[in-house]
Amino acid sequence: MANRTINMDEKLYSYLLDMGLREPEVLARLREATEAEELSVMRSAPEQGQFMAMLIRLTGARRVIEVGTYTGYATLWMALALPEDGQIITCDISERWSFVARRFWEQAGVQDKVSLYLRPALQTLDELLEFDEAASFDFAFIDADKENYELYYERCLQLIRAGGVIVIDNVLWGGSVIDDAKHDSATEAIRAFNRKLKEDQRIELVMLPVADGMTLALKQ
Ligand code: CA
Repeated sequence: MANRTINMDEKLYSYLLDMGLREPEVLARLREATEAEELSVMRSAPEQGQFMAMLIRLTGARRVIEVGTYTGYATLWMALALPEDGQIITCDISERWSFVARRFWEQAGVQDKVSLYLRPALQTLDELLEFDEAASFDFAFIDADKENYELYYERCLQLIRAGGVIVIDNVLWGGSVIDDAKHDSATEAIRAFNRKLKEDQRIELVMLPVADGMTLALKQ
């Protein structure tokens, strides 16, 4: 036993999934379909999706923004957790993966809760702000191009209400954040983003070693 986060080897991780994961069948099928796609590493981990579903319930969220849809796996976890009149606006630029996403949203019967905007996310977020949607969302999930994380975060922070939560994915970036040899644009962007949030007094901060690292920012 230790008073720090436990190391997770394959066997212990399997146990965690065996004991802790209740993945609806439609999500398991979407996960399998996503394994076949290139860049399948971009899909959220199942325990992470389940955690976000519970966060949606805990915060009583009704309106959600997602930046980075990919095949819609995290979207589907969140959509299933939302009430009947809940709504997710999800942003991506890939037509191809959205085809997979839409198919499974329909199978799960949540298609009416999900609005997919296929164009640069900054454009969608800026338009929401122009249309007076500031402080009208409860929850945001940012999981897209890392170079734009800060810009996505600043807009999402305006779009969610006080007491709303922003979840940001990949904040440990496979450990690259502490690798002195890594200076690519994505790694540098995540380092700068993490430093910024550490000092950001507009939020309460939690950084969790779930999946590839996820930060929770609770808007004051
Ligand atoms: Ca991710």
